[in-house]
Amino acid sequence: MRLLVVEDDPDLNRQLVTALSDAGYAVDSAADGEDGHHLGDSEPYDAIVLDLGLPKMDGISVLESWRRNGKMMPVLILTARDRWSDKVQGFDAGADDYVAKPFHMEEVLARIRALLRRSAGHATNELVCGPVTLDTRSSRVSVNGNPVRLTSHEYRLLAYLMHHNGRVVSRTELVEHLYDQDFDRDSNTIEVFVGRLRKKLGIDIIQTVRGLGYMLSPPADAS
Ligand code: CA
Repeated sequence: MRLLVVEDDPDLNRQLVTALSDAGYAVDSAADGEDGHHLGDSEPYDAIVLDLGLPKMDGISVLESWRRNGKMMPVLILTARDRWSDKVQGFDAGADDYVAKPFHMEEVLARIRALLRRSAGHATNELVCGPVTLDTRSSRVSVNGNPVRLTSHEYRLLAYLMHHNGRVVSRTELVEHLYDQDFDRDSNTIEVFVGRLRKKLGIDIIQTVRGLGYMLSPPADAS
């Protein structure tokens, strides 16, 4: 899952990027409204954290413009405490949720999880495919109840496939959603990660769909 943080306060921007990266997301960041607007318009983010008070272009205008351009990614706005009008304006501009400043980072992480889960059509934080379970709260993966240790890239790959269980996900889509903009992208590495993931999970739930990409499917029952 790839996220964008648009926040002009450098400390807060860094804290958000660090916390979200540590939680297993690929994260890009912007420090003003123009840059944020451009990134959100041109890159396929799974969710965006957007401050409202921004230099060059305010957050409400940024959000309105994205929505006018048909961008549907979930957006979590950061509002000043006690500014109820911010929240109303934000929701009317197309926000999906808000957090009031100052906030606890845990709350931002929980709200992002909820937005990602809902936008992918899942009811809970625990995603299941056959014997494989992925818990987006703890970033833990298990097979038949036995924990499996994954690197952050392997986890990101599996999490994306599990969020989009039931459809074919192309390599291009994976590259766009697993790496931040500074990452040296080479779509061949996706195949390497898929290979490692299959090995670590020990069962084959990742199907290669020739010429199209990958799709999860629980192993056929042997009995
Ligand atoms: Ca600000």
